[in-house]
Amino acid sequence: MEYPRWDQATGPVKCRTCKVPIMSGTEIFIKSKGVYYCPACGVGAEENMGVIKPGGIEEAFLKDLDRLPEVAADTALAKTALLLAGQLDSGEVAPREVTQYTKEIRLIGVQLEEAYPPAEEGDDTEERRARMQERRRREQNGI
Ligand SMILES: [Zn+2]
Repeated sequence: MEYPRWDQATGPVKCRTCKVPIMSGTEIFIKSKGVYYCPACGVGAEENMGVIKPGGIEEAFLKDLDRLPEVAADTALAKTALLLAGQLDSGEVAPREVTQYTKEIRLIGVQLEEAYPPAEEGDDTEERRARMQERRRREQNGI
């Protein structure tokens, strides 16, 4: 049998996420051997899996970085995210840790976007951003 798949529970099992007991015969999402989700949680679990396509995460993150000022890619945050993405892509990450990794990468993306907003045309964004970066740099150095 292939995983993941939707199938009927063949015996009483528990949902991995909400711990609700699932009766035999109920439609469930089976992520892998012994990992069951009730219909409600199964949809989310399935969606999460769709997002995590092997080999595309680092590339996707680089694309995100492209939208930000060049300096954003040089930050420790960006490099950390790329490292995590690379590990996900290469399949080095244990399945139970994948969610943690993707969460971390998403969080870093948000932080970078806040620290280095995508450039807007026709105003003083460039100058404002430079000032903001300078401030951040000083904060990080504890000055
Ligand atoms: Zn559930």
